[in-house]
Amino acid sequence: MVTRVVVLGAGFGGLELATEVSARCGDDAQVTLIDRAEGFVFGFSKLDVMFGRRRPEQVLHRYADMVNPGVRFVGATITGIDPTTRHVETTAGGFDADILVVALGADLHPEATPGLVEGGTEFYTVAGAFRAREVLREFAGGKVVVAVTSTPFKCPPAPSETALLVHEMLEARGLRGRSEIALVMPLGKPIPPSPKASDAVLAAFAERGIDWLPERLVRELDPARKIAVLADGSELSYDLFLGVPVHRVPQVVADSGLTVDGWVPVDPLTLETTFPRVYAVGDVTSVGTPKAGVFAEGQAAVAAARIIADIKGQIPTAVYDGHGICYLEFGHDQVAKVGVTFLAGQPPVGDLEGPSTALAADKTAFGADRIRRWFGREWS
Ligand SMILES: Cc1cc2nc3c(=O)[nH]c(=O)nc-3n(C[C@H](O)[C@H](O)[C@H](O)COP(=O)(O)OP(=O)(O)OC[C@H]3O[C@@H](n4cnc5c(N)ncnc54)[C@H](O)[C@@H]3O)c2cc1C
Repeated sequence: MVTRVVVLGAGFGGLELATEVSARCGDDAQVTLIDRAEGFVFGFSKLDVMFGRRRPEQVLHRYADMVNPGVRFVGATITGIDPTTRHVETTAGGFDADILVVALGADLHPEATPGLVEGGTEFYTVAGAFRAREVLREFAGGKVVVAVTSTPFKCPPAPSETALLVHEMLEARGLRGRSEIALVMPLGKPIPPSPKASDAVLAAFAERGIDWLPERLVRELDPARKIAVLADGSELSYDLFLGVPVHRVPQVVADSGLTVDGWVPVDPLTLETTFPRVYAVGDVTSVGTPKAGVFAEGQAAVAAARIIADIKGQIPTAVYDGHGICYLEFGHDQVAKVGVTFLAGQPPVGDLEGPSTALAADKTAFGADRIRRWFGREWS
C-alpha cells in the first residue's frame, strides 16, 4: 500500500523532509510538496543580495527547476488544514494525507509596526531584502538604525550581521566617516547560547563604532520626524531604518486549531503534534530552538526518519537533539561558525570557530550541498 505523505511548505524544513522520505521510501510513499512561492531563497542569501554580493536571480531556486522525481511539487496557496482528517484545501484543489507535515514557517507583518512600511525598510521578506539592495545603493550616509520590532524573530544573529555589513559597505564607499550605526536588539547578548561568539561580535561592534542597544525593541516609526520610538518610550533619530518585522504563524495555520499561544506545539523529541500522524517542523513550531533554517532542517531529518520507520512498519527511534550550526558574517569575507545546542530543560550551549575566510568557503559549500540534494542540480 502506498502511503500518502503531504508536506505543507517547501522551505528549509519541507524540502529536507520531502527529499529524505522520497529517497528512502521509493514507491512505498507518494510525497506531495505544496508551496505558493516561485522558489526557495536561503535566509543568508537575502543579505548577499542586499549588500550587492549576488543578484536576485542568482539566489532564487525556482521550484519549476526541481529535478526530484520522487517528489510531486504543487504550486498553490494552502487555504485550509484539517489536522483531524488530515485533509488540506489549496487553490489547486484538495489533498488527503495519511501523514501530514506542516512546515509553513513564519509569516512576516511589516504593517503591524506603525510607520515601518511608510518610513522604514524591512529586510526579512524576500521582496523586502531585494528592495533594500536599492535603498542601500542610493544611501548617501547618515544615521542607520538596524532594529528588531518584536519577538520571536528568525535567525537571531542576522541583525548583528546586518549592522556589520552596513559598516563594511559604508566604509567601502567612503561614507562611514559621516555615518552612525545603531543596533536595537531584544536580546541581552548578540548570540546568547555562545558567550565566545557574543564576545567576538561585541568586540567587532566596538572596533567599528557600532552602537549596541540590547534588551530593547522598536515599537513604531514616525516617518515625518524620522524617529524610531522604542518600547520604553525613548526615541532614536534615523536617516535609514532597516527593520525586522513582526513574525506570526501563517493565518491558515492559526485557523487550523494547531496553535497554542500563537505557534504549533510539538513533542520536542519527535516533532509530532497532538494530532495522530501530523508533524510540524521549523519556524511554525514552538519547539524551543531559535527560528532558523538549520534547526528546521534538523527537525525535518528527525521527522523524516520517524515517518520512514512508520511507512516501513518499524518502531521509530530517531529523536531530535536540538543541535545546529550557524554561520556568522563579520564583513570583509570573514565568517564564523557557531555550533549551538538547545535541549528541553537544559540551558542552551554554544561554541565558536573563526571568523576566517576558510569558513566563508565552508558556508558557500553548505548552500551548494543543499541545492544539490533538494533540487537535484548545481547552484550555478
Ligand atoms: C535575513 C535572514 C538571514 C537568515 N540567515 C540564516 C542563516 O544564516 N542560517 C539559518 O539557518 N537560518 C537563517 N535565516 C532563517 C531561515 O531563513 C528560516 O528560519 C528558515 O527558512 C525556516 O525554515 P522553515 O522551513 O521553517 O520555513 P520557511 O523556509 O520560511 O518555509 C516556509 C514555506 O511555506 C510557504 N508558505 C507559507 N504559507 C503558505 C501558504 N498558505 N500556502 C503555501 N505555501 C505557504 C512559504 O512560501 C515558504 O516557502 C535567516 C533569515 C533571514 C530573514
